[in-house]
Amino acid sequence: MAILKVARLGHPVLRRITTPLSVAEIQSAPIQRLIDDMIETMKEYNGVGLAADQVHESKQIAVLEVADNPRYPEKPPVPLTVLINPQITNLCEEIEEDWEGCLSIPDLRGRVPRCKSIQVQALDRDGRAVSFSAAGFHARVIQHEWDHLNGRVYLDRMRDFSSLTFLAEFARFWLPA
Ligand SMILES: [Zn+2]
Repeated sequence: MAILKVARLGHPVLRRITTPLSVAEIQSAPIQRLIDDMIETMKEYNGVGLAADQVHESKQIAVLEVADNPRYPEKPPVPLTVLINPQITNLCEEIEEDWEGCLSIPDLRGRVPRCKSIQVQALDRDGRAVSFSAAGFHARVIQHEWDHLNGRVYLDRMRDFSSLTFLAEFARFWLPA
């Protein structure tokens, strides 16, 4: 396994719409290796999610996991999940605003409105169809990664930039006491 280089904001790959994968492609050795490397890279940088275009592969793959994460210490756990060709059906009855950061936009955090609950359809890393609902921070992480796969970053979703803050100032002024 390998830790991959993360593309930063400004790299055109982050603004491209990614390509869906066939089941045969998903099951191929290069894609299985890419998924393993994405998981390793996410853990190395304490991410809660990573999209393939963030590691310069314009493919519809996202990984996510929330477990004792120092970047998001207060968030509920989410099991390690691999989502391929994900589709989100918004059950957007309620919008919730909360903080987000991004490994491609280092050192910053901002408040982003997101659907409180969503329905997700995707393929898993074996190419099997999965369908589930997610709410709260779990739903937020999936929407953030799904945006990446469609060439968007969280800044595009902010209502305005008045909450945008560096991590040091976030800890100093914004972290809930
Ligand atoms: Zn991100």
